[in-house]
Amino acid sequence: MKPDTGKYRRIFESISPDEIKELNRLNDEEQQRQAKAFKEGYENRICYLCNKPFKTISTNNPCLHWLLRQCKFKKKIFQKYMPNMAMGI
Ligand SMILES: [Zn+2]
Repeated sequence: MKPDTGKYRRIFESISPDEIKELNRLNDEEQQRQAKAFKEGYENRICYLCNKPFKTISTNNPCLHWLLRQCKFKKKIFQKYMPNMAMGI
């Protein structure tokens, strides 16, 4: 199915400059929060996303920290649990 790009264009065009400024501010705050959480977790070898040690690999809870490759990460695990991401490799 082809995406309706006009629909998204209309949405973006309906947002006022002040709303864009506020959305950017909120996005910047969230990025700063995540960067701080990552750094704090990294110092303790704990993932800020799942709160488990980086060396942990839990197939019940796939997590991006696997990509740091501090656990026993294998390509086939990646393909099984993160197929959408694997498409880009
Ligand atoms: Zn994690």
